Amino acid sequence: MEDGKPVWAPHPTDGFQLGMIVDIGADALTIEPLSQRGKTFLAPINQVFPAEDDVNKHVEDNCSLMYLNEATLLNNICVRYSKDLIYTSVANILIAVNPYFDIPKLYSPETIKSYQGRSLGTLPPHVYAIADKAYRDMRVLKMSQSIIVSGESGAGKTENTKFVLRYLTTSYGTCQDIDERIVEANPLLEAFGNAKTVRNNNSSRFGKFVEIHFNEKNAVVGGFVSHYLLEKSRICMQSTEERNYHIFYRLCAGASEDIRNMLHLNSPDNFRVSFLCIVCVRNMESILPSLDTLMVVAMKKIGLDDTEKLNLFRVVSGVLHLGNIDFEEAGSSSGGCILKNQTSQTLEYCAELLGLDQDDLRVSLTTRVMLTTAGGAKGTVIKVPLKVEQANNARDALAKTIYSRLFDHVVKRVNQCFPFDTSSNFIGVLDIAGFEYFEHNSFEQFCINYCNEKLQQFFNERILKEEQELYQKEGLGVNEVHYVDNQDCIDLVEAKLVGILDILDEENRLPQPSDQHFAEAVHSKHKDHFRLTVPRKSKLTIHRNLRDDEGFIIRHFAGFILNPFLYGNKKNNDALHMSLESLVCESKDKFVRDLFENNSNSKDSKQKAGKLSFISVGNKFKSGNTFCQRAQILSQLQCSGMVSVLDLMQGGFPSRAPFHELYNMYKQYMPNKLTRLDPRLFCKALFKALGLNKNDYKFGLTRVFFRPGKFAEFDQIMKSD
Ligand code: ATP
Ligand code: MG
Repeated sequence: MEDGKPVWAPHPTDGFQLGMIVDIGADALTIEPLSQRGKTFLAPINQVFPAEDDVNKHVEDNCSLMYLNEATLLNNICVRYSKDLIYTSVANILIAVNPYFDIPKLYSPETIKSYQGRSLGTLPPHVYAIADKAYRDMRVLKMSQSIIVSGESGAGKTENTKFVLRYLTTSYGTCQDIDERIVEANPLLEAFGNAKTVRNNNSSRFGKFVEIHFNEKNAVVGGFVSHYLLEKSRICMQSTEERNYHIFYRLCAGASEDIRNMLHLNSPDNFRVSFLCIVCVRNMESILPSLDTLMVVAMKKIGLDDTEKLNLFRVVSGVLHLGNIDFEEAGSSSGGCILKNQTSQTLEYCAELLGLDQDDLRVSLTTRVMLTTAGGAKGTVIKVPLKVEQANNARDALAKTIYSRLFDHVVKRVNQCFPFDTSSNFIGVLDIAGFEYFEHNSFEQFCINYCNEKLQQFFNERILKEEQELYQKEGLGVNEVHYVDNQDCIDLVEAKLVGILDILDEENRLPQPSDQHFAEAVHSKHKDHFRLTVPRKSKLTIHRNLRDDEGFIIRHFAGFILNPFLYGNKKNNDALHMSLESLVCESKDKFVRDLFENNSNSKDSKQKAGKLSFISVGNKFKSGNTFCQRAQILSQLQCSGMVSVLDLMQGGFPSRAPFHELYNMYKQYMPNKLTRLDPRLFCKALFKALGLNKNDYKFGLTRVFFRPGKFAEFDQIMKSD
C-alpha cells in the first residue's frame, strides 16, 4: 500500500469503504474515508487492503484482479452485480449472487446452447459453464463428477441446482419423458420438503444429492435423489413468521372440495396453531392456484395416479388431525392424562386417516409400555400412564415420525420415476445448507456445520490440488502450497471414543442423561482444545439464553462461526416410544404400514469419487435491483472459505497472464527491436531488462505467474517508465 493511493478499510455495514492512510501506528492505521474527508478512524492493519486503481472496473475471474484480497473480491462482485452480472469466478469456483428477479435471457434456451461444449473461461462465468465442464470432464476422464452448491439460506442454491439439472437434461438428454421427470420431480419434493422461513419463502428444509446418470454414449438415462436431515421439528413447531411444509397449506386451501371433505379438512381454523397457522392458509388462498397447479402437474408428470396422490394427502391430513389431539390431567391418583374435548371428532378422524383403531391410538398416546422386573416378575409388561407433557411429546414425536417417513416415501417414489438399467457415470449436484449459526443452535445445526466442515476439507484439498496441477502442467516446479487444515475440528466431532458424537452416544446410554453432564464430559475430554471453548455469558451477549458454562462453543472453519450446541434441546427429542411404534407398524392402512416397513433411505452408495466444482452462492436481500448488501455478501464469502482460497492463492502464484497478452499490453512501451521477438522471449527480455526479482515470478509454458501483488508492481514500473 502506497502513500496517496486509496485503500479498502473496514465499514460497519458495507464491509469495506475506500479511504486514504493518513498515519501508520504500531498495529493500527489511521484512515480518512473518501466519502467523509476531514474525518478519520483507526483500523487494524490486517483489515486494510490495497484497492484496484479503478474501483469501477470489473473482471469475470477474480484471480485477474491486480490485488487479490477480500475487499477487492467483494467490490468486484458488487460492481458486477449492479450491472446484473450475478456470476463471477475464482479459478474453478463459481460465485453467484441472488438477483431476486428473472434476468432476461440469462437462462434461455439460446444461452443453454451457447455454453454447450465451450471450455471454462471462454464465455462469461455462468452456472451452465460449470455444468458443461462437469459433463466434458465426465466424458473425457470417464469419471463421475460432482458439483457442490453451498451458501446461506436464500442464497439461490436450489435454483442454481435446478438450472444445472435443466441444462444437462436439455443438452445431453435423449428421452424427453425422463428429462422432464428429472426436472418435474422438484415441485413435488419442494411441496413436502420446503417451507416459508424468515429468510426464504421457499426454503429447502432437507439436503439433497441429485445424480443424473449417463450411459456409455454419455446420454442421460435416469436420475437418483438422496436426501438428508429433513427438519422434523418444523412439523409441530415453527418460529414466528415461519410456516410448516407447503403441502399442509396447499391441501387446506387448494384441494378440491371433494378431497377436503374426504380428508375432513373443511375448516382449517380448527387446527392447532403450531401445526397450521390459519392466517397462512388464508394468505395462501390468493396465490394458490398456480402453486397447486405446479404440484399437481408435477405429480401427474412423474406418474402418480389418483390413488397414490390421495394416499399422500391422507397421511398429511392425518398428521394435521393428530396435531389437534390435546390432553388434560386425568384427575385420578395415577398422575396420568386423558384426551381433552372427548366429544370432538379429532381422534376419530386421525384414526380413520391413518388406519388406526381409535382406542388403541388413545391408549398409545396416553400410556407407555414398559418391561418391568418389579416384584421379581422378570419381563412383565406394564402400562405406565403419561403426564400431560409426556403425552404432548409422544403426539409430536408420532407426527414427526409419520411425516418424515412420508417424505422418505415421496423421495423413493420420485426415484422410481426415472429408473435406469445401466449407467456408466453420473453428475451429482449437492444442495445442502451452508454453515448455520442462530441464537439457539441445536443438534440440527451441529450436524449441518460438521458436514460443512467435512466439505470444506474436501474443498481445500481439491482446490489446492487443482492449483498445484496447473503449476505442474506449466512446469513451474512449485512443490507445496500451504493451507489451513481443519482436520482438528473434524477429529473433535468424529474421533472414536473422545469425539463429540461418541460422547453424545455415551451420554444417551446413561440412566439419566443431562445437558450439563454431556457438556462437562466434552470439556473434560478436550481441555485447552483450540477449537473448543466454554461459553461465558459476559463475553457472548448474543447468547442471552445461555447460562454460563452451558453447552460448548466450536470454533468452526476459519474461526468465523461460534456454535454453542445445546444438547437436550426439545427439537431433538423425537424418539417414538414402543407402543406408538407398533401401533403405526400395524396400521390397517397398507400405505401407512409400508411407510414403516420399507426404509426408503437405504441405497447402495454409488458415489464414486467425483470431481469437484464449487458453486458458492453469495446471498443478498434487496429492495429493487440497485442495493447491494455488501456486509452480508462478505460474511458469506468468509464462511464459504472463499477468503481462505484467496489466502491460498496469496501463498502461491495467484496472478497469471498469457505471454501474448503481456506482449500486447506492453509492446507500445518497448523499442521496436524487442517487439520483433515472439511473446515468450519478449517477456523474458523485458523482465530481465527491468531487473525484476526472480522470486517474484515464474515462467510457465503458456504464461507468466506472479507472486501476490507483483504483477501490479510490474505494471506500475512499465507505465511509469
Ligand atoms: P435454502 O437454504 O433456504 O433452501 P436456497 O439457497 O436454496 O435457500 P433458493 O430457494 O434457491 O435459495 O432461492 C431463494 C429465492 O431466490 C428463489 O425462490 C428465487 O425467487 C430467488 N432466486 C434465487 N436464485 C435466482 C436466480 N438465479 N434468478 C432469479 N431468482 C433467483
Ligand atoms: Mg434450497
